[in-house]
Amino acid sequence: MIRKVAVFGATGSIGTSALDVIARHPDRLRASVLAAGSNVAALVALCVTHRPDHAVIADAALLDALASALRDASLDTTPHAGMPALDALARDAAACDTVVAAIVGAAGLDSTLAALRAGKRVLLANKESLVLAGALMMQAAHDAGATIVPIDSEHNAIHQCLPADGDCSGVARIILTASGGPFRGRSRLSLADVTPAQAVAHPKWSMGPKISVDSATLMNKGLELIEAHHLFAMPVERLDVLVHPQSLVHSFVEFIDGSTLAQLGLPDMRTALAVGLGYPDRIASGVTGLDLLQHGRLDFEAPDTDAFPCLALARGALAAGGTAPALLNAANEVAVSAFLQGHLRFLAIPTLVEHVLGTLPAAHAASLAVLRDADARARHVATQAIETGAVH
Ligand code: NDP
Ligand code: MG
Repeated sequence: MIRKVAVFGATGSIGTSALDVIARHPDRLRASVLAAGSNVAALVALCVTHRPDHAVIADAALLDALASALRDASLDTTPHAGMPALDALARDAAACDTVVAAIVGAAGLDSTLAALRAGKRVLLANKESLVLAGALMMQAAHDAGATIVPIDSEHNAIHQCLPADGDCSGVARIILTASGGPFRGRSRLSLADVTPAQAVAHPKWSMGPKISVDSATLMNKGLELIEAHHLFAMPVERLDVLVHPQSLVHSFVEFIDGSTLAQLGLPDMRTALAVGLGYPDRIASGVTGLDLLQHGRLDFEAPDTDAFPCLALARGALAAGGTAPALLNAANEVAVSAFLQGHLRFLAIPTLVEHVLGTLPAAHAASLAVLRDADARARHVATQAIETGAVH
């Protein structure tokens, strides 16, 4: 049977990589739903190539623009607009059986949760939703019998190293690898004047702007610690990080018998996406295997927590529990967006996150409403701190 795949965040870095893999397998995969945030032109261009049944633009004001652009292109793709439409398609059994969750930020939470609650196969790239509401999402997946295949390369590597049933009882430790980002080896002081253009110039991975800045601050690895905690039910003290500048080893799983397994591959997200799209079968991704003789060596070093305090902030939020990770994530989203717009210095990103965590006490994460409220409060406090110049 041909899998019907909904790609949420289709116009982004992950979305276009997913579509590349899908197009290689017309006999087993079809892009049935494509969704974007506000870029109608890019979404319609993808519809021309992939001919989905449905196209969704999250910005509700853009329905007419999407409908007329689809008409102009002579496509019979049905246009939809607004986040509720996205959630409805995530649930709809006729529309899709697989969802690639590749919206950036907490904006991806509702549609991912809708897909999980409907028992779909979810290829989860949107790590912020897990940081915000990981326990609820894992419970929803469990209750509905949904399958989560992690797409984040580290978590996908761990998923590949674990037994097929995902049993972690023999796991002693999980070690996430980190490239170190564009500023690896730099002192904290030397980072005072770095620009957004420098921060998004990642040495190994080609990614969207938000995650590129997260990689430069190492917040990305902090978010990934929290992500691993939820996906693999691993306590924070059994989660470690190693900087590995070649970005060929995508993570390690250390077992209680002294074995350590790793997954290796070129830094190209199509491999992880192919693992998810074909799961449990292996399918071609367009990525070639490694030529280890050409690469020569694999290096590892400890992360520099002085120059990059975000990792410790995330570890602290995970240890504090409750709404703390939601506060951390929201503050970071505001900080990264302000940095990209030139309103905040690079070094103020961790300062702003710390300010929010210090201002708002972490509460028990009793429900989704409590988590959403924490997310909104953190955005408010962070925005005010930038506007008043309290953090700059
Ligand atoms: P991009 O910025 O490249 O793409 C983001 C996508 O989300 C676009 O399709 C965008 O649409 C859409 N979008 C933005 N805001 C909204 C919204 N409010 N509602 C609906 N859709 C929206 O991001 P990436 O592809 O780099 O990252 C996507 C997710 O995957 C992130 O959570 C990231 O952390 C994770 N990830 C990414 C990796 C990578 O290699 N890129 C690796 C591991 C994880 P539009 O074009 O219209 O703005
Ligand atoms: Mg990653």
